[in-house]
Amino acid sequence: MLLGQKNKMLKEFDLIKKYFKKKTPNIPLGIGDDGALIEKNKQTYFIFSQDTLNINTHFFKEHDPRKLGWKTLAVNISDILAMGGLPKYALLSVALKKNDDRWLTEFSKGFFDCAKKYNVDLIGGDTTKGELSLSVTIIGEVKQNFVLRRDGACINEDIWVTGEIGHAAIGLAHQKKQICLNGQDLKKALSIFEQPKPIQLDMKRISPFFSSAIDISDGLAQDLKHILNQSKVGAKVYSQHIPVAPWIMKNNAYDFALYGGEDYQLILTSPKKNRKKIYEFAKKNKIKISKIGVTEDIKGLQLFDENNNLIKRQKKGFSHFA
Ligand code: ADP
Ligand code: MG
Repeated sequence: MLLGQKNKMLKEFDLIKKYFKKKTPNIPLGIGDDGALIEKNKQTYFIFSQDTLNINTHFFKEHDPRKLGWKTLAVNISDILAMGGLPKYALLSVALKKNDDRWLTEFSKGFFDCAKKYNVDLIGGDTTKGELSLSVTIIGEVKQNFVLRRDGACINEDIWVTGEIGHAAIGLAHQKKQICLNGQDLKKALSIFEQPKPIQLDMKRISPFFSSAIDISDGLAQDLKHILNQSKVGAKVYSQHIPVAPWIMKNNAYDFALYGGEDYQLILTSPKKNRKKIYEFAKKNKIKISKIGVTEDIKGLQLFDENNNLIKRQKKGFSHFA
């Protein structure tokens, strides 16, 4: 996730690996993907995932509480979509310094706006006193045949991304006074940073076209690398094919799109034979999806800049404890 320093991406993941990652032979998929899989029945998996937003790490105290309520659930929904699934149920844990009626009224409104939009029921949670922290456990479902895991990509496949990338990153940079946005650029950037809108896809219909997926929370390049590492493939990705926020294109500031994060859009891979069907599906359903590269058998991610030159020094995405 996005706020804070961006470097040494391995720190957060090393920590998880060292202390928490254990073998889970009794379930189809444990730690390491956007969600864990538990068998519901012979056709269907439950998907479990959890994401937390902490004050001063993921958001500032000025964050509009209604938008924050939405975001608290939306970032979790994004992980279920990234597994090819449909979000169903949520448990909400809230730590608060004080019982602030106005803040809680707005926060809960935003949370339930999002729950209604994506058909999620809040079924439990926990409320405690402490520094403001918002954590959701989300449960979704996916047909076993159509689950999208990070380790499903093969060589010579298309790499896709949904939506437009980089709005949240420039929104945050504006808030930190690192850049100065205005007009439509500012409006869109802040809107996506404060209230991300995971793509509303009928995952049941779209996931059969694809072989793997991940959602972009820590930066396109870093999150794509999770797919590449886990699928044991490499890739070439072309900046000029990434659909970026117009400000990024105008200012040749592609780093925001490559390494920024908090887009909550999906990176997907698919066999080339599905390309036509994907374009047709996207057109019919008015979905923005763009082909940004190709997987290959040379390991690692080769990124090309907007002039088609190989980027020699890639930056890192976001990592806690970097
Ligand atoms: P995402 O960005 O998709 O939310 P993360 O990068 O936060 O995923 O986490 C990577 C993987 O590690 C996920 O499968 C997550 O469930 C798991 N994970 C993270 N923290 C812990 C923890 N404290 N204990 C067990 N698993 C964890
Ligand atoms: Mg994720």
